[in-house]
Amino acid sequence: MEELLERLLEECRPAAGQGKVADYIPELSKGDPEALGIYVIGSEGKRSWAGDCRQVFTIQSVVKPILLLQALMDNGAEFVMSRVGVEATGKPFDAINFSDQSLDSGNINPMVNMGAIVMCSLIHGRSYDERFQRLLELTRRLAGGEIGVDQAVYRSEKSHGSKNRALAYLLKSNGLLDGDVEEVLDCYFRACSIQVDCRALAHIGAVLSNRGRLPVSNERIFPAAMSRYVNAILMTCGMYDGSGEFALRVGVPAKSGVGGGIMAVVPTRMGIGIFGPALDRKGNSVAGIRLLERLSAELHLSIF
Ligand code: GLN
Repeated sequence: MEELLERLLEECRPAAGQGKVADYIPELSKGDPEALGIYVIGSEGKRSWAGDCRQVFTIQSVVKPILLLQALMDNGAEFVMSRVGVEATGKPFDAINFSDQSLDSGNINPMVNMGAIVMCSLIHGRSYDERFQRLLELTRRLAGGEIGVDQAVYRSEKSHGSKNRALAYLLKSNGLLDGDVEEVLDCYFRACSIQVDCRALAHIGAVLSNRGRLPVSNERIFPAAMSRYVNAILMTCGMYDGSGEFALRVGVPAKSGVGGGIMAVVPTRMGIGIFGPALDRKGNSVAGIRLLERLSAELHLSIF
């Protein structure tokens, strides 16, 4: 497996040249465009990796399925579904244009920014600090190790977050967001700034592939029904407006983030963590998708 990963990684590394590191906040533009790493954790616990796996980066949108899980664990599926829908938006992650659709809860998707901001308001806790700490604790358990928060990225997100503010105030003005907008946003910015590496993403993916149980110990973190819920939404919306093409090329549930991470779930078989910060125009790792496409072809990973 290691040999296969090494070979595919070197084959796919040049694809990074077609992408660009995110620069919507100054702090992220410091990423190395040539970096590429992959980590795989099989359902029986076997680990394999190649490339730049030790690099730490911010989780960004890969936190969205964890926000959804925490909201589901706190409120149950019925309530969550009354606040956010499950239909693909087919639009960029920060889309604000609803001209061809009414802005109501059924059209808000938890894998794009609007829905993720609503998720932050659904997490239980007496204060927003407590809500964030609960999210961080769940992320630690899913990642199977200590993780921190990148304070520089957090400050950069917060001071350059006009578009996310616009989305949150639009939700608020339409009666779709409870609570203090700035506090909800602060929780969202902190959530995006959680630090991970490829191993952490692979571990999170392995729990989702293992129907809510940790690999090896088999300890249950969340009910199997919730992994079905999250994996289904990842399949249709996890790569934003690139989800259809990803389903065709790779064929497994996955979530990308503008930090360069991709967390992929191969149901019952493995979790995969990718780091490749050069992004395509949709905000997905170019070399990362290419690497997953090649791995999927070699190991017959597509669920279709
Ligand atoms: N922090 C980013 C934002 O809200 C996350 C988006 C992403 O990873 N696509 O703009």
